[in-house]
Amino acid sequence: MSWFKRENGEYDSGPAGSHPDPVDAAEKNVRTEGLWIKCLGCRQVVWKAELEANLNVCPKCQHHFKIGARQRIDLLLEPGYELVDGNLCSTDPLKFSDVKSYKSRLRKAREQTGLNDAILNAVGQLGPHLVVLSAMEYGFIGGSMGAVVGETIARAADRARIERKPLIVVAASGGARMMEGVASLMQMAKISTTLAQLDDAKVPYICVLTDPTTGGVTASFAMLGDLNIAEPGALIGFAGPRVIEQTIRQKLPEGFQRSEFLLERGFLDAVVPRRELKAYLIRALDFLKVR
Ligand SMILES: [Zn+2]
Repeated sequence: MSWFKRENGEYDSGPAGSHPDPVDAAEKNVRTEGLWIKCLGCRQVVWKAELEANLNVCPKCQHHFKIGARQRIDLLLEPGYELVDGNLCSTDPLKFSDVKSYKSRLRKAREQTGLNDAILNAVGQLGPHLVVLSAMEYGFIGGSMGAVVGETIARAADRARIERKPLIVVAASGGARMMEGVASLMQMAKISTTLAQLDDAKVPYICVLTDPTTGGVTASFAMLGDLNIAEPGALIGFAGPRVIEQTIRQKLPEGFQRSEFLLERGFLDAVVPRRELKAYLIRALDFLKVR
């Protein structure tokens, strides 16, 4: 059973799926206490207050740091939005245990993030548009998609269809949540179905892919938007580069699976810096009017 064995603590700040490279794991564990933080992009030391004032984008190299679901919603919606669908909790259907029990991982993630799972739904104003926004939380078991994440996004899509409000999903995920086995894989089909219904109802859906968006999330709702846009430098893919390299036995090109590479090859519609994201979404929704 060594295929799922991981180093202690890797889930706390690292990836959930099988994808990102373990070489980077130590870098990802950079602690954020204190006044200074080392940038993962340019390796320079950045003043934390300056970083936060710049929407957690490095002022020196524009590296986009990961941000939480709540911060993402605050960034996009006007004050006074309403959080919805937040009462679902995983039942641990497989009673799964690896080096730790899934139950204890869930408990710890809940304490750390204050969320029930790796997703937060909100309804509110995005500029002049009333929208349903669903934001993933990477800090909750690597933003992995289990039954709760799947159901919550499906509910956001249903709500968007019934209330005829555009749907925005901000993806940040290591992929399916392996501790829920096939139940997590079923979420791909469930969300895709609700998105097809949304499409039939002619209600717009925009997906924002952030670092990282991988595995079953990329393979389902993250690539199904009327517009699929990404933040700069985000890792986006299905399997990770290491797995692909080992499979095809070839060196991968520079920038493989990063936003800019995918834009160039037609997988994305735009790469939009965080600072311009809100204005971009407003313009896109002006264009994609709900009929
Ligand atoms: Zn930097």
